[in-house]
Amino acid sequence: MKKNSNLRELMGYAGGHRYLTYLSLLLSAVSAVLALFPFVFLFRIIREVIEVAPNYAQATHIVRNGWMAVLFAVLSILVYVCTLMSSHLSAFRIAGNIRKALMAHIAELPLGFIGEMGSGKIRRIVNDSSAATETYLAHQLPDMSAAVTTPVCMIVMLFLFDWRFGLVSLLPVILGFAAMFKMAGPSMAEDMKLYQNALADMNNEAVEYVRGVPVVKTFGQTVHSFKRFKGTIDSYYDFVMAYCKKCRPSMLSYTVLVNSAFAFLIVLALILAGGGPVAQPVLLNFIFYVIFTPLIATAMTKVMFMSENGMIVADAMSRIHSILDVEPLPEPRNGKVPMDNDVVLENVTFRYTGGTTDALRDVTIRVGAGETVALVGPSGGGKTTVAGLISRFWDVGGGAIQIGGINVKDIPKETLMDTVAYVFQDSRLLKASILENVRLAKPNASRQEVERVLHEAQCDDIIQKLPQGIDTVIGTKGVYLSGGEQQRIAIARVMLKNAPILILDEATAFADPENEALVQRAFERLSQGRTVIMIAHRLTTIKNAGCIFVLREGRVEESGTHDTLVAGGGLYAKMWQDYQTSVSWKVGAAK
Ligand code: ADP
Repeated sequence: MKKNSNLRELMGYAGGHRYLTYLSLLLSAVSAVLALFPFVFLFRIIREVIEVAPNYAQATHIVRNGWMAVLFAVLSILVYVCTLMSSHLSAFRIAGNIRKALMAHIAELPLGFIGEMGSGKIRRIVNDSSAATETYLAHQLPDMSAAVTTPVCMIVMLFLFDWRFGLVSLLPVILGFAAMFKMAGPSMAEDMKLYQNALADMNNEAVEYVRGVPVVKTFGQTVHSFKRFKGTIDSYYDFVMAYCKKCRPSMLSYTVLVNSAFAFLIVLALILAGGGPVAQPVLLNFIFYVIFTPLIATAMTKVMFMSENGMIVADAMSRIHSILDVEPLPEPRNGKVPMDNDVVLENVTFRYTGGTTDALRDVTIRVGAGETVALVGPSGGGKTTVAGLISRFWDVGGGAIQIGGINVKDIPKETLMDTVAYVFQDSRLLKASILENVRLAKPNASRQEVERVLHEAQCDDIIQKLPQGIDTVIGTKGVYLSGGEQQRIAIARVMLKNAPILILDEATAFADPENEALVQRAFERLSQGRTVIMIAHRLTTIKNAGCIFVLREGRVEESGTHDTLVAGGGLYAKMWQDYQTSVSWKVGAAK
């Protein structure tokens, strides 16, 4: 039932091309039937030889039958080629349309979702899961049509010649399936789930292990020091061994039975002969079945894998749905445009999906238009969450966020995107020229405009050292930029966007002080005349902020200017003291 609905859904992505899939099913069946004919002609050759023996000169149809066998074999292959052509035309279109649907949907989803799911996982679903549907529709589905047609035709033929032999050659198949049936059923589904879990555990621990390789190498440890990883490998091994042993009797019986049709036929032939010489018609029928029965094993094995193929495509579809079923944040019906650039968080509470505690509790932050505020505090305090909520990566759980007096939920997405710009800590650039990277913010910007913002964002030294200036493509032929350089280009991009409200996530570490100073200057230029909310990691950069909010465990612990907070002797004062100690330590170390 589920499989059918998967197929129906896939066909929905095919549009007019779905008829090509249906055609491929038909052609595949035709090809399977044609593939049986060479065996019939082969049998005719043998029959003629036996009938005219020992006067072989009388066997005049051998060549013609031989050619007919070749003809049907070639025809079957040609029809199969047509099958694959039509199935591929449709399958590629479907996979392409699924990818388009996923990409269109992802563009609608809030950025918070992208962060939570992880870009690696999203990429895998967009690429691999849609490719799995392609394999299924282009190859497995037509093969299934053949796998069903072949046994049906064979059963008809088996009974056409001699029903007694026909029955006997089916007997091992029936017994084989009975043996397999014991293995399948609900316990099999349960085992499959356990197997997938054991595999997933092992994979997760393997990732942890690879992350820990530097530690392992530095301290001369072995895989045994990663007890959890070793544990998951052992339990996977135990499970797989136990599972194999459990399946062994059924699988063994099935393989032996399905391949032993000859034995059954010989016994029947001996019984029919009744101790005397074998009659010619019986011998001929016997030979026919001996030629034909090996096909049964092949066809049956294909039928067996049908359910596995179904499971693979069902898994791919459920992964695709893990993206498609996520609802975008509701868009306001009558969107309002903020008239001012102040930002207010009023008693905001927020918890991440799957989180056990609130990431923010009752947070109130007011930022006047054109003002610069800083968010500081220990890691995990909620700084990034505040910044994400203002850009509406998610919706708040309680309280409200307003820009220019308008709730962010009532501001149309495009307007909000034009109003708030977020400079991430690790701003990524695309593999495109610097010009194109900056222009992303405003596609119709002129070259002069781009050059101006690059200059303002302190990027002159970067442009000068690149072979083709702003037309150099980043990421190719050894053109790589350092983190600080990338961030300056990202700042230029945000300048071009010219949004009145900025969220700056300061990078935690820079390779060299020169870069740091340039980024700092670029930030300053960018901040002029704008409302700025800055996530600060180095306290010197925020000394002049209008107000500093100290966040700890999801709450605003204290707020005020640098001087009042230092004088207050609270958490900030302590952080400031620690910071100065670390700076003097660094300076001392550098001497
Ligand atoms: P900061 O930026 O101050 O380091 P964050 O805003 O990143 O802090 O995190 C605040 C809290 O929310 C932390 O307890 C963190 O573990 C939790 N958190 C952050 N991101 C997620 C997420 N995607 N899912 C669940 N919890 C999260």
